[in-house]
Amino acid sequence: MIRLSRERSVYSLSADAPPAVRVRLGETVELETADCFAGQVVAPGRAPAAIDGERINPATGPVFVEGAGPGDVLAVFVERIEVAGRGVMAVSPEFGVTRDRFRETVFEVVEIEQGIVMLRGGVRVPIEPMIGVIGVAPSGAPVACGSPGAHGGNMDTRLIGEGATVYLPVSAPGALLAAGDLQALMGDGEICGTGVEVAGRVTLRVDVRRGLEVTNPLVETPEVVATIALAETLDEAADRATLDMAELLATRLGLPAAQASMLMSAAGRLRVSQVVDPLKTARFEMPKAILASFGGDLI
Ligand code: CA
Repeated sequence: MIRLSRERSVYSLSADAPPAVRVRLGETVELETADCFAGQVVAPGRAPAAIDGERINPATGPVFVEGAGPGDVLAVFVERIEVAGRGVMAVSPEFGVTRDRFRETVFEVVEIEQGIVMLRGGVRVPIEPMIGVIGVAPSGAPVACGSPGAHGGNMDTRLIGEGATVYLPVSAPGALLAAGDLQALMGDGEICGTGVEVAGRVTLRVDVRRGLEVTNPLVETPEVVATIALAETLDEAADRATLDMAELLATRLGLPAAQASMLMSAAGRLRVSQVVDPLKTARFEMPKAILASFGGDLI
């Protein structure tokens, strides 16, 4: 298997970034990833002065996918996510919905033992490993890995775990895929600005999905298909995710507009992914079991 060390990381996704490795369609690549603080936080307490604010949200890559180019949709299947034995969280007056409740940045180091996250107060929660940052080169100027966009990036969407497939519209030759910012556990919203941020390894299989036209990312899990939308406001992101799903139901399954809207209104799940990054992320999930009666594939 092709492996890439976390030493090969980027802080922005860019069409001009030199590829760190090349893979072919159908191949699998293992990326070693640093946590979102690039491993700079090793102890709980106040923010150490030495933390370099430029080294936040590294993503390992970029991976040049031979055979993927502008106009294609890259399908990235998440085969495996392994997380380290300890994670980091933070609260800060500089980020998060709760920022006004804090006067200084405070870090917490969270132990992870045998698949259980040990939160303060003796709270034990099973891990739900996910990928925070996964994206390809954007169509325009470089985008910092801390921000999401139509190219993917910092989507911070809980669905992106083992067994999920992420579909990303490709803008650059080779797609230039990168991933990082693993979380052992993250709640919808990521309200304080961090989940349980961990280093680790992700195993991704890449391919191109022909005949699919999308302008924003999609995620498929064994249970649901979800449209992912990124926007300045949550209202706008929610509308976009909803309308993208309505369009998908019309174009892929041939549902008339009224039928699609009523189906989504009756059985869909409009959810918040995160509200703390430079753009907000919303998603619209449709359960696959409900779509099964229509025959064809949604994606
Ligand atoms: Ca993130």
